[in-house]
Amino acid sequence: MEEGKQRIVVGTDLMRKGATMLREACPRCGGLQVKYQKRTLCMNCGDLSDAATMAETSTVDTLTSLKDLILVKVDQAAVLLRKETDPQRQSDLASLLLKYVELIGRLERPDSK
Ligand SMILES: [Zn+2]
Repeated sequence: MEEGKQRIVVGTDLMRKGATMLREACPRCGGLQVKYQKRTLCMNCGDLSDAATMAETSTVDTLTSLKDLILVKVDQAAVLLRKETDPQRQSDLASLLLKYVELIGRLERPDSK
């Protein structure tokens, strides 16, 4: 992969995993900086190979962001269900919600099968 593109991918991945964008630009190159797991990384000149590894190994973060994503989906499905008048569609949405809820339960107790 071309290096500039790789940086964007790593950056996006870090943001999704809870990295925050910093207001201060990089003192060395003026590039965009993000903070991830107590480390400040420049998206332009920082060593992102390191960050890519961190992003991959952080299972807890992945589970947390997955749970957040499901919660958003639950919200969306609940809104749809409220507006839905067709019984068949309501049933579909209800079973969808049930699946999300089950998934969240499993994420909260990863050891129980
Ligand atoms: Zn920099």
